[in-house]
Amino acid sequence: MEKEILNKIEVRQGDITQLRVDAIVNAANTSLLGGGGVDGAIHRAAGPELLAECRTIGGCPTGEARISKGYNLAARHVIHTVGPVYNAKKKDDAQRLLNQCYQNSLILALENNVKTIAFPAISCGVYGYPLEAACKVAVDTTCEFLKNNAAIEKVIFILFSAQDKKVYDEYLAKI
Ligand code: ADP
Repeated sequence: MEKEILNKIEVRQGDITQLRVDAIVNAANTSLLGGGGVDGAIHRAAGPELLAECRTIGGCPTGEARISKGYNLAARHVIHTVGPVYNAKKKDDAQRLLNQCYQNSLILALENNVKTIAFPAISCGVYGYPLEAACKVAVDTTCEFLKNNAAIEKVIFILFSAQDKKVYDEYLAKI
């Protein structure tokens, strides 16, 4: 991968709600009305106004993305995307939908003048997507997008555990 593209990508361990970026991405569910995991953490940190705005959006199909304000978060925006629930018998469908999550989130970022964006490991919690396979989709889709869209300056992949971070670091070291 070109150095210019890799320089725009950062892998971190930590809590996405604490990041001072233009937008953080939420691994939401189709209702957009909050849930557990990263979704719950984002709603708690953003405050009740986030849920009020999400009510007006009216849901989001799997693979698509919607944008809201960030309210009490340091991030100006939250981009809500809905990852696939992983089914090993339908790997191709899951991969296509996860690819769309990253792609559609990045398109929304561009359209809203978002230059710095952070992604959690979408679908890798309750939705059961294997982390190594999801990491490949996340990184490959993002790199391809960055090649064609120079306006995005920084993409942070933020992982909750050191072990998960290592998977991303190792994949990025070999592409
Ligand atoms: P999904 O339903 O899409 O699987 P989850 O929220 O269950 O979403 O998990 C997605 C990933 O986000 C998991 O790898 C989980 O460890 C991670 N995660 C949970 N909370 C946070 C947080 N506050 N910051 C960053 N990552 C988080």
